[in-house]
Amino acid sequence: MKIGVLAMQGAFREHIASLAALGVEGIEIRRERQLEGIAGLIIPGGESTTIGKLMEEFNLLEPVRSLAAAGMPVFGTCAGMVLLAKDIIGSDQPRLGLMHVSVRRNAYGRQVDSFEVDLEIPVLGEEPFHAVFIRAPYLERVEPPAESLATFMGKSVMARQGNLLATAFHPELTKDLRVHRYFLAMIK
Ligand code: GLN
Repeated sequence: MKIGVLAMQGAFREHIASLAALGVEGIEIRRERQLEGIAGLIIPGGESTTIGKLMEEFNLLEPVRSLAAAGMPVFGTCAGMVLLAKDIIGSDQPRLGLMHVSVRRNAYGRQVDSFEVDLEIPVLGEEPFHAVFIRAPYLERVEPPAESLATFMGKSVMARQGNLLATAFHPELTKDLRVHRYFLAMIK
């Protein structure tokens, strides 16, 4: 099984390393033809405006949308969460726009650029997940068929909608592989 990791910009190498730790091959995706044969796709953190513009320029938005519509699992972390959202508050930047969520970028303000917190994520079991947030977004609204899987200070920071998964934090920056394992379990 091969998992594509969008490699326009951002933390794609770390995702490939997390996949490797689970014995799964991660493929860097920069062109449409590289999407062929992948069982799932990860959209990493980075700068969502840059990643979105490059996806538009390299004609990747539509092909990824149709693979997702056909049921291929897609997992977005941080900037990837922003790109999956239908609504990005105050922005008309290019996006995949697949999840029924409203996302606020850089939601925790400048003073707390990045932080780490132990999150309760019931779908991962009882042990809290040590989550790293870097200029992170949060979800203002999560509407069906999307559902929130974790909250922090009253805001959703992880959501799933069928074959789509999004986290505001960076599970690829810690050794805990449970979020990646959860994503791989979404692949039939
Ligand atoms: N603030 C970035 C954005 O909105 C996301 C930051 C990240 O991916 N670590 O694109």
